Amino acid sequence: MALIVHKYGGTSMGSVERIKNVARRVAKWQKAGHQVVVVPSAMSGETNRLLGLAKEISERADPRELDQIASTGEQVSVGLLAIALQSIGAKAKSYTGWQVPVKTDSAYTKARIESIDDSRVRKDLNDGYVVVITGFQGIDGNNNITTLGRGGSDTSAVAVAAALKAEECLIYTDVDGVYTTDPRIVPEAKRLEKVTFEEMLEMASLGSKVLQIRSVEFAGKYKVKTRVLSSLTDPDIPLAEEANSGTLITYEEDETMEQAVISGIAFNRDEAKITVAGVPDKPGIAYKILGPVASANIDVDMIIQNVSHDGLTDFSFTVHRNELEKALEVLKAKVQPDIQAKSITGAKDICKVSVVGIGMRSHVGIASQMFETLSKEGINIQMISTSEIKISVVIDDKYMELAVRALHKAFGLES
Ligand code: ASP
Ligand code: MG
Repeated sequence: MALIVHKYGGTSMGSVERIKNVARRVAKWQKAGHQVVVVPSAMSGETNRLLGLAKEISERADPRELDQIASTGEQVSVGLLAIALQSIGAKAKSYTGWQVPVKTDSAYTKARIESIDDSRVRKDLNDGYVVVITGFQGIDGNNNITTLGRGGSDTSAVAVAAALKAEECLIYTDVDGVYTTDPRIVPEAKRLEKVTFEEMLEMASLGSKVLQIRSVEFAGKYKVKTRVLSSLTDPDIPLAEEANSGTLITYEEDETMEQAVISGIAFNRDEAKITVAGVPDKPGIAYKILGPVASANIDVDMIIQNVSHDGLTDFSFTVHRNELEKALEVLKAKVQPDIQAKSITGAKDICKVSVVGIGMRSHVGIASQMFETLSKEGINIQMISTSEIKISVVIDDKYMELAVRALHKAFGLES
């Protein structure tokens, strides 16, 4: 007998019919003798619908109230799933984040989990209940409801698994695992049986939408054995088969992993580029530009500073697209009076494409192979950044699919 956490995404919870299937699947695990905690998302589309209502009233709604609203989607899900479980004879009880409680900081719409009290949940498990806990939400030190950022139910599930020292956290989703790249762009993409936690972290932060980044960070920090698998299979398939399906996120690099130099190609259109042109090339200029941006709590990703001409240089960096306007406001109000740049401009027609793989550590020439591939396609590289296990480039948005296909092929990732 083991304690297992299941997480079901919005698609898996998308209709009453699907919720009934989730219940059957969960009940199967419980019948096999496991203690099961389930962390579902809101029904698909529901969080967007709720936030859309708020947006109709105000474009700049109070984040506290947005969390108040958005958190209700998951509350409905847990109740429905508990009823579905009860209706097939399983004992089940649901909780919202504040009832557990899942304590977070007070950063509305992107709160971080600080602690989870496992006493109530443990008692229920020992009494034979399936415990269903809302994903995506918690409560801060002043009893305000918070949410963890879009896709946050993954993080809730992994955090619950860590708090309960669960044997495994199973993330059931509408894809059957982690792929070398998005199969919608490259149909030949193949499923990875295993991926290291570090690679998964890079892929998540570089645009693979399979898992929320924070959930992977959590899994790494607390060594939670995590598996991504399909919720769309027949819920009655043999448990042993299900338990070994999907993609396992591992902590050790074994021999099989050394064969592939690159594990995947990630991409995203989530960033925008800001160029501060014609600034004096003096010590402290990067700090003068990026200091106020950081103080406004805006994350900066890639940064590039050009060689200077006549004592002036151009400085470019990327931020999340949603934060472009805010970043430009900060620059114009707080930075421009100080540095007197010739211009400050924002561009959204960019994308980031990355190759990821721990094999890069022991292989040279990956970067040049990547650049050669892009140059053969006539794609201009605007920015580059590297780490030990990834290389990312910023290119023109319109070449994204072409770049991903070409790189997937060049690195031999096709099945
Ligand atoms: N319901 C939330 C969202 O749509 C959280 C999640 O699904 O993980 O972002
Ligand atoms: Mg998700």
